[in-house]
Amino acid sequence: MARVAVVGAGLAGLCSALALADFGHDVTVLESGPAPGGQLAFGPQPFTLPAVLRDLFRKTGRPLERELDVVPVEPAVRWVFADGIEVAVPNASPSGARRALDDAFGPGTGAQWDAVVAHGDRSWRELRPLVLGHAGAKPARSAGTLRDVAASLREPRLRAVLESYATRHGADPATAPAALTVLPYLEQTFGVWTVSEGLAGLVGVLAARAAERGATFRYDMPAAGPALDGRRVAGVTLAGGDTVPADTVVWTAPARLLPDGIAVDRRGLFARRRDHDDAPPAAVRTVVTQEQAQPTATPSIRFPADAGPATVTYDTPEGRVEHLAPSAVHGAAAGRVTAIFRRPGNVTRIRGLYLAGAGAHPGPGIPLVAQSAAIVTDLIGRA
Ligand SMILES: Cc1cc2nc3c(=O)[nH]c(=O)nc-3n(C[C@H](O)[C@H](O)[C@H](O)COP(=O)(O)OP(=O)(O)OC[C@H]3O[C@@H](n4cnc5c(N)ncnc54)[C@H](O)[C@@H]3O)c2cc1C
Repeated sequence: MARVAVVGAGLAGLCSALALADFGHDVTVLESGPAPGGQLAFGPQPFTLPAVLRDLFRKTGRPLERELDVVPVEPAVRWVFADGIEVAVPNASPSGARRALDDAFGPGTGAQWDAVVAHGDRSWRELRPLVLGHAGAKPARSAGTLRDVAASLREPRLRAVLESYATRHGADPATAPAALTVLPYLEQTFGVWTVSEGLAGLVGVLAARAAERGATFRYDMPAAGPALDGRRVAGVTLAGGDTVPADTVVWTAPARLLPDGIAVDRRGLFARRRDHDDAPPAAVRTVVTQEQAQPTATPSIRFPADAGPATVTYDTPEGRVEHLAPSAVHGAAAGRVTAIFRRPGNVTRIRGLYLAGAGAHPGPGIPLVAQSAAIVTDLIGRA
């Protein structure tokens, strides 16, 4: 049994703490805030690839569906154009999407979008081993930019839709890799899901199950950094100066608190030679207005008349939540989307110190963050 300190009680910390406690380790979670959840507190967050969470639940006790009501978001998304046209895109139905586009813009438009989804399918086959694995996979060669793919679409509104997969991550379609077509592919093939109880329900179940498996949660406990003993981790140094001893540390808090030079660059999911971007993280700009709205988990992607970046809005019981573009709704991202996926690896140069969460491989967003925890748990192994 190892003494494991997990720093941060967001999704990555919760998933890591649960899986490692279930593996029989002595797990302590150190969270700077007063409660778990981290970024999951920001309004509705429909997610793809629910299999990642299902896997964690199945391996650690009752299946996900017995704990929470995981439901498809229907329609998956509503595209709202400046000229007043709205397209409700059905969930997990490429043929339904094709019909909706043909109805809105005329026959043949759906087939144009099919070509984007087919591009995403090819990209996913290339990227999948890299996203789901932790070592050995070669970075994908990224041929072209998202704008190149968009340029092949005759319908200008569809071009705006495709480019929004870059702009909503705070990135420029002219430099974002073409392989971002995996995002519409994943949405339309595996569906977009939400938890009826809200993400607070997911957080509550994860924290309770981790505690049942023996994990200890310590809140209002900001970490200053890992405590090192040469090239080994010795614990976590708290902001107050105390050290919590540990043989293994799973770090899910911001990477800027780590000593320089310990992260191993994964080169990113989308490696391109000229990738290098030290721009500071784009801020998440989220606005809640008290507009009367019918609550729904379906996001509306609104496209301005001037072809500028789209804005993602959700109608919640609290009002309308707007994630203003350009923003980094999927975690801290530097100026280019390649940087979003250019994350340090889960293993560091310090023995016993692992990185998980949106700041580490394979990247941000609910499924990838949960997958980072799964990768780290596999690397650490059973007690
Ligand atoms: C507005 C918004 C909308 C989003 N929408 C979606 C969506 O629709 N679909 C989707 O899949 N994803 C979405 N995401 C992304 C998703 O929420 C995140 O990628 C994921 O929750 C990140 O989890 P994490 O554990 O890596 O990080 P966090 O949630 O940031 O957790 C890190 C935790 O560490 C704690 N911490 C920080 N510093 C310290 C320290 N020094 N010591 C101890 N603890 C510390 C923090 O308090 C926090 O609890 C969205 C994110 C935002 C912000």
